[in-house]
Amino acid sequence: MNTKEIIKLGDKYLMRNYGRIPLAPVEGDGARLWDADGKEYLDFVSGIAVNALGHCNLAVVDAICDQAKKLIHCSNLYYIEPQALLAKMLVENSVMDKAFFCNSGGEANEAAIKLARKYAKVKHGPDKFEIITALESFHGRTLATITATGQPKYQKGFEPLPEGFKYVPFNDLKALEEAVGPATCAVMLEPIQGEGGVNVATQEYMDGVKKICRKAGALLIFDEVQTGIGRTGRLFAYEHYGVKPDIITLAKALGGGFPIGAMLARGDAAKIFQPGDHASTFGGNPLACAAALATLEEIIEGEVVEYTNAVGEILYNKLLELWGKYDFIKDVRGKGLLLGMELEIEGKKIVDGCLEKGLLINCVGGNVLRFIPPLIVSSTEVKQAVGIIDEVMARLKKN
Ligand SMILES: *Cc1c(COP(=O)(O)O)cnc(C)c1O
Repeated sequence: MNTKEIIKLGDKYLMRNYGRIPLAPVEGDGARLWDADGKEYLDFVSGIAVNALGHCNLAVVDAICDQAKKLIHCSNLYYIEPQALLAKMLVENSVMDKAFFCNSGGEANEAAIKLARKYAKVKHGPDKFEIITALESFHGRTLATITATGQPKYQKGFEPLPEGFKYVPFNDLKALEEAVGPATCAVMLEPIQGEGGVNVATQEYMDGVKKICRKAGALLIFDEVQTGIGRTGRLFAYEHYGVKPDIITLAKALGGGFPIGAMLARGDAAKIFQPGDHASTFGGNPLACAAALATLEEIIEGEVVEYTNAVGEILYNKLLELWGKYDFIKDVRGKGLLLGMELEIEGKKIVDGCLEKGLLINCVGGNVLRFIPPLIVSSTEVKQAVGIIDEVMARLKKN
């Protein structure tokens, strides 16, 4: 099928819950994608920070094929070797003690919310159940996670929402201090808010959050669904801050493109769940875990995190050059290869212009361009991408 035919078919048979761009990718390799009409694109979206090793990384493809021939699914009624190996790898490379596996970021956060509630019930009694999250956050699309998400647009129309969530402005310690009380069981934050506009937590904020949580007997949950697995130039974003969360959640890049989510916990929190407390039919299945194992092995043994730091700096500096050139650019921020460029104009114009010239970027919150290429993107590809953005911006400035 060509692009037109695929779009027609999708429009006829799929629910209209996505505002889709009229592009139908059919093949990928590294940081490159091809659509159904054979047009090539440089992919600086990576399936929204999913394809960390680029499209169709050979080690990941081989791991999936090999595992698929052996055992795809069995159930958590039994012990699963790749699941135990993946848990070991995540634990040994983080400050966490134990893992639970699921299939997405929303599910990982749902599990974290349930763990925090249960922990507080067991340790402190029935009245400690409130979860504080940040405004402009994003935690998923299940009923509990849209409630955790501090943006009304995701909640509208789905009321009544679950009780026990409270919101505070991000990077505002005083507001958090005032919001936290004896009823607070957890504070849940993204170290860098991805969907909310690439907003980076300050060191001072993270230090303060940790102190406030400790004083209140509240668990600190980091939603690292987007920031985890090397994206920010560390394997996990909490490493930038030297702050140990009690729980972290992962998904997006964890399976190198294959769906898998994880919730990791530390200390007493890791021991709370008992048989029957939480479960997932597909969570931690052999195939997903084999894909994640291969992805993590590549990232850790291939020193991808170090590489991401270096190439991220090249991209950051190139974006700074653009900032110096165009006065409609308001800010450039982020860490590693999770970078944002805030504009005084609508981002869609730039995104559309880039699409036409064969570059995929995306825009969050209406006016922040987000750059999330594969972690293995080459410096040549970075220069190419910024060249295209420059052309699009120059044309816009002229008109
Ligand atoms: C994408 C994302 C989620 C939701 O993940 P899904 O896999 O779509 O459920 C949750 N939190 C953050 C920070 C995300 O970026």
